[in-house]
Amino acid sequence: MSNWILITGGSRGIGAATALRCAQAGWDVAINYARDAAAAEAVAAKVRALGRQALSLRADVADEAQVQALFSQLDAAGGRLAGLVNNAGIVAPAARLEAMTPARWRRLFDVNVVGTLLCCQQAAQRMSTARIGQGGAIVNLSSRAAEFGSAGIYVDYAATKGAVDTLTKGLARELITEGIRVNGVRPGVIETEIHADSGLDPQSVAATIPIQRLGRPEEIAEAIVWLLGDGASYTVGAILDVAGGR
Ligand code: NAP
Repeated sequence: MSNWILITGGSRGIGAATALRCAQAGWDVAINYARDAAAAEAVAAKVRALGRQALSLRADVADEAQVQALFSQLDAAGGRLAGLVNNAGIVAPAARLEAMTPARWRRLFDVNVVGTLLCCQQAAQRMSTARIGQGGAIVNLSSRAAEFGSAGIYVDYAATKGAVDTLTKGLARELITEGIRVNGVRPGVIETEIHADSGLDPQSVAATIPIQRLGRPEEIAEAIVWLLGDGASYTVGAILDVAGGR
């Protein structure tokens, strides 16, 4: 029987690295994306080359109907949903408070927080031992920004990740009674394309990180896959900093 891991925003960066690491660990992988179908299909092809099933599924995680359709497509593929990685996330151009707009705040919260909630809701329905499920694991991508606050850069993005941490802790306690482990990962500064949207050069902060370099997507994927697996069977509501000491 297929054991699917659904990774939101799996077409590049941390999500793509997680997709490949999940395939190596023996899971089938559903790769969600928002815009770039070719990139998502390229990750799916690499998963298949590792001997696992793969799906690439378009959906804006901020849109309730699209999230419902995403999970319905996964249902149609058959098998069991074993895990969800809420990885899709956005930043916005670096700015101080006075230059920000409500539209920007709403989009950040819609994708990073409402998107995470919508996917948790759909996944829990399928994993819950109180319903049709056999249990499972959810990993939410936060950021070290949740603790630092990102003053002068994107306090709004940092606040979305603070919200993700809080709902990770709450959902962990709520859903563990139904066999679902919820945990979080807080990356530091990782070499991905996300930084192009902030207009910041991530290399400019490398020297301020105790380990003296940026992280690689594969180094975050390793933590995510551990939290998804049986090796983390007693780990519930943990938020793991993977940030080179930052
Ligand atoms: P990335 O390289 O920018 O990739 C983002 C992924 O999310 C892409 O696959 C993108 O798909 C997808 N996506 C964006 N908006 C979406 C939406 N509304 N619905 C569905 N998918 C959407 O990002 P990353 O750097 O790998 O970051 C992944 C996660 O880690 C994010 O939650 C981010 O906040 C967090 N994080 C990253 C860093 C870092 O330094 N990179 C640090 C801390 C935390 P398309 O390309 O098709 O749009």
